[in-house]
Amino acid sequence: MALTFPFSAIVAQDEMKLALLISAIDSSIGGVLVFGDRGTGKSTTVRALAALLPPMEAVVNCPYGCAPEKRAGLCGVCEGPGAKDKPKSRKVPVPVVDMPLGVTEDRVVGALDLERALTQGEKAFEPGLLARAHRGFLYIDEVNLLEDHLVDLLLDVAASGENVVEREGLSIRHPAKFVLIGSGNPEEGELRPQLLDRFGLSVEITTPTDLPTRIEVVRRRDAFEKDPEGFTQKWKRHDAKLRKQIVDGRALLPEVVVPDAALERAAQLCLKLGTDGLRGELTLIRAARGLAAFLGDREVTDAHLRRIAPPALRHRLRRNPLDDAGSTVRVERAIAEMFDA
Ligand SMILES: [Zn+2]
Repeated sequence: MALTFPFSAIVAQDEMKLALLISAIDSSIGGVLVFGDRGTGKSTTVRALAALLPPMEAVVNCPYGCAPEKRAGLCGVCEGPGAKDKPKSRKVPVPVVDMPLGVTEDRVVGALDLERALTQGEKAFEPGLLARAHRGFLYIDEVNLLEDHLVDLLLDVAASGENVVEREGLSIRHPAKFVLIGSGNPEEGELRPQLLDRFGLSVEITTPTDLPTRIEVVRRRDAFEKDPEGFTQKWKRHDAKLRKQIVDGRALLPEVVVPDAALERAAQLCLKLGTDGLRGELTLIRAARGLAAFLGDREVTDAHLRRIAPPALRHRLRRNPLDDAGSTVRVERAIAEMFDA
């Protein structure tokens, strides 16, 4: 298998890296939307994160890669009659599945073979990309160019954690829990607002403009391409440290306390910014809790809220005709007014 560029060796792009790390700790945050120019290393970063995560234990011969130790949320094969109590399992890498543009719905959700079902009376199901992405990441480059009905479908499945395929009275369901990562170049078409707000976090990345950063990007890329093994070896310790931080963060997450004061702050901030609905607050709180867990903190504080508010809220602002400042500026201004007062 080809080596992946190490996550910890990625220069700058701190907000994207943090958003991905937090999503890896709490997949219920709702995925990450990445806006930025081409060639800013978006897909490299996603692949690097998957490679950073510890390999997962998956049931052998299960098309969905179910976890062997789990007793609930398994697929029909692992849960159905005749399923073993202790199924055979093996370690597999966390999947990163690419969603190509122009993909058919059958290929995404999986295909039911109606003919075989009718003639042989068996449910013949060919699992799709959603099955492969289970327990991992589903990556859509240029999400703004993907057909609307497919994006809706993906967001629905990502939110419910289950894929249901229904054709002519036949139906099959299987678990599909994944972190959805969409990337797009805003110059090539806008995302519908009702779609934007369903992503948990959104980050903006740009090509670095300062000289030392650009030089470092090129230097590391070049070093990796010349000697992938040596380069990976050199960064191994840094990646191992981050990996441990993710594993520890996942274990700590259920214990992180969100005090009433933090809930109030989050609500105030969303009111001030006029974000639609309650999704903003919910995401802000979850992301702050994920950040606290990542940092090894047992309680959500103002510092966590401040740091994670821009990616949690910037894509939920309504256009204000009297204020032509960008959404990041508006979020930062509201944070400063609230927290520095
Ligand atoms: Zn299974």
